Amino acid sequence: MNDLAAAVLAGDRGAVARAITLVESTSPTHREAARELLGELVPRSGAATRVGISGMPGVGKSTFIDELGSLLTSQGRQVAVLAVDPSSVSSHGSVMGDKTRMNRLAVDDCAFVRPSPSAGTLGGVARATREAMVVLEAAGYDIVLVETVGVGQSETAVADMVDTFLFLTLARTGDQLQGIKRGILELADVIAVNKADGSHLVEARLAAKELGGAIRLLTGGNPQRNVEVLTCSSTAGTGVPEVWDAVVAHRDGLVAEGALQGLRSRQQVRWMWSAVEDHLLRDLRHDAAVANVLPALEAAVAAGDLAPGVAADEVIGTFRKG
Ligand code: GDP
Repeated sequence: MNDLAAAVLAGDRGAVARAITLVESTSPTHREAARELLGELVPRSGAATRVGISGMPGVGKSTFIDELGSLLTSQGRQVAVLAVDPSSVSSHGSVMGDKTRMNRLAVDDCAFVRPSPSAGTLGGVARATREAMVVLEAAGYDIVLVETVGVGQSETAVADMVDTFLFLTLARTGDQLQGIKRGILELADVIAVNKADGSHLVEARLAAKELGGAIRLLTGGNPQRNVEVLTCSSTAGTGVPEVWDAVVAHRDGLVAEGALQGLRSRQQVRWMWSAVEDHLLRDLRHDAAVANVLPALEAAVAAGDLAPGVAADEVIGTFRKG
């Protein structure tokens, strides 16, 4: 067996970090080594509880994960924290990575916290995160928390790699309505109104009640979409165990219905297709013949002289010939 794979399976933290760096890389030689490594690790992964956690910046995600993760490690669980930061894709710096986050988990031997990879495209970041998840599960982490920010596409990408999706929000009507409008309800399995402490306690409870009512209306009482809405305080720790209980109850429900395996299988197939799309797009963007024709085509489309669909056909035609 590959030495790195053996060290990962033995739970060696340094090896885990090196393996994640390897799967994050897009260089062709690293991809080859990563394929070999993942071949060894995939059969040893899959046993973890995978949970996505999202919410707008400032809602308290890192504080919540620090509190929840510490609670879980104190119960003997091995907790991995990954992140999908959509801003790491652009060159504008990271919304999630710049501050000191998760102080307790960062020094907890039973936790492994890894910031978001910056792999060029959201598809690339999602692929790297899924492969990091394989590495961590093979190393024995039995809970994987994947954090992201509340911006459409990255939430969909994370929902597509986890068993249960937890949405954190605040007791402000604007945020809740925005959340509902953005279609978060199609993704959220559990919702927690955070910062339910001090002078905000009453309004947080009221907001959770209202949100629960709105959701029941929107889902038409569908028992398949039984989204629990709770309150918690990540700084005080109150309500956090109950939020975790709701997450576990959702996942246990999937297991009891025999639905978890189906969900994971569909995710695996979508993962394959998104990797294919990402790979093809990367090849296309690096194609010299395409690079030659692109400026003129883009200019003609921008000026309204050429239909976008016709230009797309030319781009693909050039790529196929090249
Ligand atoms: P993130 O951007 O979603 O990761 O949010 P952070 O975890 O960085 O929290 C943003 C701010 O909200 C910080 O100043 C936290 O101390 C504060 N905060 C987080 N959770 C709570 C909470 O439950 N109650 C209160 N009062 N403040 C909180």
